[in-house]
Amino acid sequence: MLTGGCHCGTVRYEVAATPFEPVLCHCADCRRVSGAPALAWFTVPAGDFRYVGGAPQRYASSPRASREFCGACGAQITFAETALANRQIDVTIASLDDPRAIRPEQHIFVRSRLDWMTGLDLLPDRADDVPPPPPEHRG
Ligand SMILES: [Zn+2]
Ligand SMILES: [Zn+2]
Repeated sequence: MLTGGCHCGTVRYEVAATPFEPVLCHCADCRRVSGAPALAWFTVPAGDFRYVGGAPQRYASSPRASREFCGACGAQITFAETALANRQIDVTIASLDDPRAIRPEQHIFVRSRLDWMTGLDLLPDRADDVPPPPPEHRG
């Protein structure tokens, strides 16, 4: 069982299935809804994903797809193609309580990828001023 939720703790979810197709998506829609250069996703059968806390907001990010997010803190939670919404759903890896549990295996929508997104692991590390926070779980 995978668990996750938004930053403020209002929206919480559970995933019963083993995820498949973990990807890092570089499309412009993911970028604009999140304010991040890319979003990491895994896919599960729709029936194996359920909200256990809060009620997300839904936004039609294109004529073919909608996204759900926390209306209080704005965290992106799911993406679904309308035509496939009752079969499969994509969930943001970074909203998992343990986002290290799933590692992206492919880049997708690479034609939209920001050119500075390649080679980022070559950047120098700057030391953190404070220790890393514990895994977030406020639900
Ligand atoms: Zn929230
Ligand atoms: Zn995308």
